[in-house]
Amino acid sequence: MRLRNIPGSRETIAENPWCIQQPEQLKGNWHSFFKNEHPIHIEIGMGKGKFLMTLARQNPDVNYIGIEKYSSVLLRALQKMEEKPLDNLCFIRMDAETICDIFCEGEVDKIYLNFSDPWPKDRHAKRRLTSRQFFARYHQILKKDGVVEFKTDNSDLFDFSLEEVKEAGWNLDFSTRDLHHDAALNEGNIMTEYEERFSSMGNPIYKLAASRKKD
Ligand code: SAM
Repeated sequence: MRLRNIPGSRETIAENPWCIQQPEQLKGNWHSFFKNEHPIHIEIGMGKGKFLMTLARQNPDVNYIGIEKYSSVLLRALQKMEEKPLDNLCFIRMDAETICDIFCEGEVDKIYLNFSDPWPKDRHAKRRLTSRQFFARYHQILKKDGVVEFKTDNSDLFDFSLEEVKEAGWNLDFSTRDLHHDAALNEGNIMTEYEERFSSMGNPIYKLAASRKKD
């Protein structure tokens, strides 16, 4: 999601109480930041944040962190937080490539990836959030029984992701090529902004869940 650059968005974000300015300083201390021992779930590439805000409202006993690369997109989430603040949700503006600088080993319980950018060129494969390079980063920050959940409407990216789960030595917990017509897997599903848009166009939604290898 690339919104038109909004002048002043970086400055607005720098002053916003829900956007963590120096997240590296909280590495290993996220539970102290939230002032509880609740599990930590993150979404990488959260866009405007609808998915995480819904989850955070439904699950006050889980701490949520949204990660987004672009200020102009994150700004929309921050504006929504001002209307309805949540104390179990915060945001970081960063490229997830350096996610291991933010969380220490085993600090994260669950990672959501929703409608991640496909990076269709082969030479950009390692930028895909479901590449083996990213699974190696997730391995570092997730708890031993930690999971990654991924949704997309892009069949090529989904096929690639299934391969990368295997290549990374992770366990495929489940996968579906039509989430919205799988009554069991769709139960409690929270639609993201992109999911609403693509499913209203008739696109099937693919989903997989993979759990960390246990070493
Ligand atoms: N998850 C939202 C949804 O499903 O509606 C937004 C999907 S949008 C296609 C993908 C988002 O991921 C964009 O906002 C993009 O800026 C962000 N993104 C892509 N690569 C990223 C990275 N390496 N680190 C952080 N955010 C990233």
